[in-house]
Amino acid sequence: MLHKRAWWLWLVMGGLATIGYYLLPYDSVASEVEYTSVGLLSCLAIPLGVRLFRPARPAMWHWLAAGQFTWLMGDLVWDFHKFILHREPYPSAADFLYLAAYPMLVVGLMLLSRGRRRGGDLAGVIDAAIVAIGIGLVFWVFVMHPIAAGSTASALERAIGLAYPAADTLLLAMLARFFTSTGRRSTSAWLLGAAAVVLLGSDVTYSLLTLYTENDGGGLLDGGWLFAYVMWAVAALHPSMRWTGGTNGPSVARVSRGRLVLLGVSSLLPPSLLFVPGIGDNDVDRMAIAAGAVVLFVLVVVRMSGFVSQIQRQADLLEDLAMADELTGLANRRRLEQGLTEGLAAGSMQVALLDLDDFKEVNDSLGHGVGDLLLVAVAERLRLAAGPDALVARMGGDEFAVLLTGTTTEEADALVARLTGSLNGSVRTDGHDLMVGVSIGIADAQGADSPLEVLRRADVAMYAAKISGGTHRRHTPELDRTANEQDRLGAELRTALATNQFRMVYQPIVELPHGRPHAVEALVRWHHPERGVIAPDRFIPVAEHNGFIIELGEWILRTACGQAAQWLADRGGRAPDRISVNVSARQLAEPGFAALVTRVLADTGLPAGRLTVEVTETAVFGGGQAVQTLNELHELGVRIALDDFGTGHSSLGLLQTVPVDVIKVDKSFVDNITMAGRQAVIATALIRVSEGLGLSAVAEGVETAEQAAELYRLGYRLAQGYHFGKPVAEPQFAAEPVPAHR
Ligand code: C2E
Ligand code: CA
Ligand code: CA
Repeated sequence: MLHKRAWWLWLVMGGLATIGYYLLPYDSVASEVEYTSVGLLSCLAIPLGVRLFRPARPAMWHWLAAGQFTWLMGDLVWDFHKFILHREPYPSAADFLYLAAYPMLVVGLMLLSRGRRRGGDLAGVIDAAIVAIGIGLVFWVFVMHPIAAGSTASALERAIGLAYPAADTLLLAMLARFFTSTGRRSTSAWLLGAAAVVLLGSDVTYSLLTLYTENDGGGLLDGGWLFAYVMWAVAALHPSMRWTGGTNGPSVARVSRGRLVLLGVSSLLPPSLLFVPGIGDNDVDRMAIAAGAVVLFVLVVVRMSGFVSQIQRQADLLEDLAMADELTGLANRRRLEQGLTEGLAAGSMQVALLDLDDFKEVNDSLGHGVGDLLLVAVAERLRLAAGPDALVARMGGDEFAVLLTGTTTEEADALVARLTGSLNGSVRTDGHDLMVGVSIGIADAQGADSPLEVLRRADVAMYAAKISGGTHRRHTPELDRTANEQDRLGAELRTALATNQFRMVYQPIVELPHGRPHAVEALVRWHHPERGVIAPDRFIPVAEHNGFIIELGEWILRTACGQAAQWLADRGGRAPDRISVNVSARQLAEPGFAALVTRVLADTGLPAGRLTVEVTETAVFGGGQAVQTLNELHELGVRIALDDFGTGHSSLGLLQTVPVDVIKVDKSFVDNITMAGRQAVIATALIRVSEGLGLSAVAEGVETAEQAAELYRLGYRLAQGYHFGKPVAEPQFAAEPVPAHR
């Protein structure tokens, strides 16, 4: 691929030719022929490069080629004067051609730096102006002004003499623009920059030499101009010329250290001139320096304000990013806290905190992808339901918040109703129809002194809503007291288990009417070192909430089964036939629960048929893993009891989907059974259902003999309650059975 190497070849040959120029006798025909042919070939190289590489932006190269040819014409005219006419006039037609070449080169270089960003890169232009004015002023003081003031020269000579440094200043401005522009530069662009630098360097040196010394370098500088020719050509022959001229790389709004130094030095140049002895003695220089300094100052200020607004824009962008939730696009926790602070200052506000129920299960069983889609869908529904005046935020995980400022309690409650309504029914995500349950806590800022306090209140209310199974709860001071206690208990659970503070007690389940022991229900107690015995109602929900129920539940199962096996070994036929163990929703949802039961039965030696697992309706209502676990347990031969039967939503429906052996009729239906009323009717209906489905029914909370008698009359054959025995550590089964009638 020769044409890919052409630039290299020309660089080497051109370099050698430049050296060769100095080896040939000065001012000889030979050296002049060499000079001119290198110039001619270099001029031809530019259109050649355009043909070879077909650049995306040929215009720039056309301008550069035109400039080079015009320059070459100048050389030829000069040679004609010198070698044919043997005259060296100043000014001559050659000067006009040279001067005509500069604007073309300048246009070419201008196109080089332009177009990175459509609409112009104002900052780049200002930077270039700062550099050009700074250095241009120095040029003025040392070169242009002395020429302009030269008394011996004619007006035309002076004009031409001034035109060169002026053209050079333009060239310099373009170079400054090139070197201060951002973005990636191609090799070809660098070569063009180098060509312009060589040209400019030669020009400036020449001007200084002719002004301040008696000679013009004696042809020494010719090599510079010659090499500049070569460089323009090399740039045009480099393959990267194809995409040189603006389209390369994205413009990065960035200020490099180098650029800052360049700008700083340039803007300090004019005032520093005043330190040079003799400068500023004349009005013209002084005015030029003063005007330059003022213009530079203005430009620097404009540029600085550009920096500032650029930084401001970036800061704004960062702030937006920092305030939004990545997944859902809602506000994030930080943004909400900001809103809370503002709301607190403004006066009244209401916060609703929402937590999806069973989101973890969705994530675990369907994967995080579906979980994320669900969150996005929920976010969208909340956004729509909350309306434009509310701030909807995602707090992280499956927790959302809605902030209302300047609203009344009634309006907030209406909003909460809208929010629950919006999540009613299933959410369709990625082919899955998911039921979304939600718990909402609402709080106002009455008397609150910090945003976090308001959030805490809403959190307490939400937690209470979750535990009580309702959808929403408004915060009250009373809730705080229980929540505080629950927090403390929650923190102590682990130590309590490690230091044996939990004990099991056993309550008999007896046969009616004679009250012969049939089974026992295992119930847990916490013997707290300071607070005495704590009832399970107070710590089981906490353990469920923080997940500790998994560990505690395993201990309970092991202890209860171990005890039952022990009784069997010690008392044989006088031991209770079965033991009932309460299992929470969280335990059932754990995929390994059936395997755990298998292990515990094997470890303790208790036959599966002697174990009953008590679960609440709500624990299995959602279907899924919980029901599967129950099926596995049923397969093992473990019996399943539905606890607190009749208090859930779909008690009867569940009997068809869940393998149930026993229903435990809730105490509330037993309490008033001796009085004619609704309870008695339900208790009657439930025993009919259990008979119809072939299930056992246990009446719970039997406290009196009358209740026991009535239950027996209705058809109940199993009962449990203080009347027959309270839960105790060592129930006496051998003792006299408690008869239904005393
Ligand atoms: P549950 O499963 O419905 O248990 C029956 C509750 O009623 C027990 O309260 C029991 O002491 C009480 N009870 C029994 N007979 C009577 C009576 O005649 N009158 C009255 N007023 N109450 C009676 P306990 O032991 O405080 O347990 C409360 C709840 O805590 C249980 O309700 C159960 O849901 C849960 N729980 C207890 N132990 C455990 C456990 O080991 N694991 C799990 N997951 N939950 C447990
Ligand atoms: Ca129970
Ligand atoms: Ca119960």
